[in-house]
Amino acid sequence: MWSTEAIRRLDGETAPTPLLRLPLPGLRLKDESAHPTGTLKHRLARALFRYGVACGRIREDTAVVEATGGGSAVAQAYFARLLGLRFIAVMPGEPSPARAAAVEELGGECRFVNPPLAIYDEARRLAAELNGHFMDQFAWAERAVDWQSGGLAEELFDQVRQAGGEPGWVVVGAGTGATAAALGRHIRLRGHATRLAVADPENSAYFPGWAYDVADYSTGMPSRIEGIGRPRLEAGFIPSLYDLVIPVPDAASVAAARLVREITGIPVGGSTGTNLWAACELVSRGSEVVTLIADAGPRYLGTVHDDGWAAGRGLDPRPYTVALERFLAGGPWAPPGAAGMDR
Ligand SMILES: *Cc1c(COP(=O)(O)O)cnc(C)c1O
Repeated sequence: MWSTEAIRRLDGETAPTPLLRLPLPGLRLKDESAHPTGTLKHRLARALFRYGVACGRIREDTAVVEATGGGSAVAQAYFARLLGLRFIAVMPGEPSPARAAAVEELGGECRFVNPPLAIYDEARRLAAELNGHFMDQFAWAERAVDWQSGGLAEELFDQVRQAGGEPGWVVVGAGTGATAAALGRHIRLRGHATRLAVADPENSAYFPGWAYDVADYSTGMPSRIEGIGRPRLEAGFIPSLYDLVIPVPDAASVAAARLVREITGIPVGGSTGTNLWAACELVSRGSEVVTLIADAGPRYLGTVHDDGWAAGRGLDPRPYTVALERFLAGGPWAPPGAAGMDR
């Protein structure tokens, strides 16, 4: 049967990612950019295909459609090719040959749509027209992803145990919320004492929605940090699983992403910086912390790692860079603007 063979192929695509040390005692980074497609979306895409096949929604001739401008397009194109399926990414905004190329190299197709928020309706329409399947990661990734065994969560805790311990905190960002949900559920499943923090960028509804406990909180503004932060609370954002949601200024995310690149040589995306900034906050309170390098790629050299890109968005990472460098050199944790705060 096609579905049996498809699941077999998907199950063959799991290789652990490395756990790295930064030159900061108490902090480890699990490098999800080590996946073949350079992003943690690799795990989500594999899980979404596996779930779609298992549910009978993805079959031998099903065209798969996803609404995404980010790493999911590349990761899903990778698995569509593995299964011999047609894949179309509906992306927001003006056509971008660079963004299309990464998907097309994997045999996928791209459609660009304006206004950007029309991508969801267009993906649904296109899937219906092709008698295909709208993958809809914001609805399904949190449900499809492995949280019990064989996924990121189990792998992370196994690796930390082998390195000699159990982290006080795990810090991740939230886009679909699937990664955070898998970790939160796994922590309860295995009875870990570890706590879970979500690092959230500016313009995202996740921090205020969580802090004020308002389920329909909306900012109406897109996040500037690729992959994380949403203008509204998505179905996969599950507050009962988080011990803390930490708001992170975008300029701090940029500064921290640049620092990770400086130390590791990996051209990480902005969300890795968001993770690192929030992780430093917790390390400064004496905790052992594990966070993620969420993704990386040369395209970030022209965005997060580029001074013109940051300046064009009114972001000045310098004061945050100073604070990070001081902290890594053994000094106090003193984020700009926090002087005089009781901490
Ligand atoms: C999707 C994504 C995240 C967040 O992961 P979710 O499991 O969707 O919440 C973080 N960083 C990057 C770069 C992403 O693409």
